[in-house]
Amino acid sequence: MIPSPLPGQPQLHYRDQSLYLEDCHLTDLARKHGTPLYVYSKGAMLDALAAYQRGFAGRRVQICYAMKANSSLAVLQLFARQGCGFDIVSGGELERVLAAGGDPAKVIFSGVGKTRAEMHQALQAGIGCFNVESEAELEVLSNVAASMGLRAPVSIRVNPNVDAKTHPYISTGLKGNKFGIAHEHTLATYQRAAQLPGLRVVGIDCHIGSQITEETPFMDALERMLDLVAAIEAAGIAIHHIDFGGGLGINYNGDTPPAADALWAKLLARLDARGYGDRQLMIEPGRSLVGNAGVCLTEVLYLKPGEQKNFCVVDAAMNDLPRPAMYQAYHAIVPLHQQPGAEGTLYDVVGPVCESGDWLGRDRQLAVAPGDQLAVLSAGAYCSAMGSTYNSRPRPAEVLVDGARAHLIRAREGVVELFRNERLVGG
Ligand SMILES: *Cc1c(COP(=O)(O)O)cnc(C)c1O
Repeated sequence: MIPSPLPGQPQLHYRDQSLYLEDCHLTDLARKHGTPLYVYSKGAMLDALAAYQRGFAGRRVQICYAMKANSSLAVLQLFARQGCGFDIVSGGELERVLAAGGDPAKVIFSGVGKTRAEMHQALQAGIGCFNVESEAELEVLSNVAASMGLRAPVSIRVNPNVDAKTHPYISTGLKGNKFGIAHEHTLATYQRAAQLPGLRVVGIDCHIGSQITEETPFMDALERMLDLVAAIEAAGIAIHHIDFGGGLGINYNGDTPPAADALWAKLLARLDARGYGDRQLMIEPGRSLVGNAGVCLTEVLYLKPGEQKNFCVVDAAMNDLPRPAMYQAYHAIVPLHQQPGAEGTLYDVVGPVCESGDWLGRDRQLAVAPGDQLAVLSAGAYCSAMGSTYNSRPRPAEVLVDGARAHLIRAREGVVELFRNERLVGG
């Protein structure tokens, strides 16, 4: 009945039937901080980063953590201290990087809808590169930079038209997606960028999707990118860095993505074979650095047997952990305290939000009673960061564990904070 070993999360294990993350007893943390509660393992994040660092040993590489996956300040601080840069998608994310002590020179700014104000803010902070996603954006960025007496460093995000074979909402490198410049228009766009007074071309960039569990899409994108680099440089425009984006998947439910170091050994061998092995490289991993470092703890409120379905109603909901509601995503759910020999019942694990889409897991075999606690696994990426306060539910607290030490890195939000900026109408 209990999945064993726990999918994807090596720092998570049972001792005497109790679930631990590193050396922290999760029931104790749930008792101390309440539920729902996010708990992250520092060791798991560092191990995930180390797999990339091993793959890149001896190369010129800047790892830019795609912080939208998990933008808690202490998580950013951890990666900044390891020398990481950040891939940002908004001015708000830039402010978080600066608040966490990140180096703006190692920031790259992605996204299809950067505003003039965000461009101004990023230029002022001195970020490393803008990954530009349209011709219109190139013109605006050039204007903003020129008005400040600057030249903005730019890469153009290429849409290489490869199928990442992932969920349609997280596939970004196909022709029908809103992202990037079509492969066949890339050269013309670079020629335009090279003419604009407020721009300085520094690199090329792609990002083909997320939760990619096969090698082939990465290999295909690499070949197409290098074809483009050759064509652009033949036109006299130097490409100083090549950015391969992020997208490497994690194990949620028996998924078997390639290991970061093994994948990069293959990609680097192709780069070498094609004569680009000495280039400055950049990557933008998000999920693969944090996804399997986190769990969301929740308490069982009620068991509700039904004719067709049994429901296990818990105190975490789609606002806290939106991936199942949003993409029918699977997260393993396990008890904080195992009951050996207990049969269990098949439940849909659902939250208190008034939407039928509010579920965390479907058809899960669980031996639980009200008051028991559960852990939703692989909840380090795109969970807390995507959370909302729908139904006036304040955001959960977050804890970062490091061995036997647990640091509260986000206090539970108060209800009053939710409507602090609202006003009653006078008179
Ligand atoms: C989201 C995103 C990433 C990170 O994707 P993961 O699948 O989390 O690794 C990288 N680059 C860009 C441009 C993104 O939008």
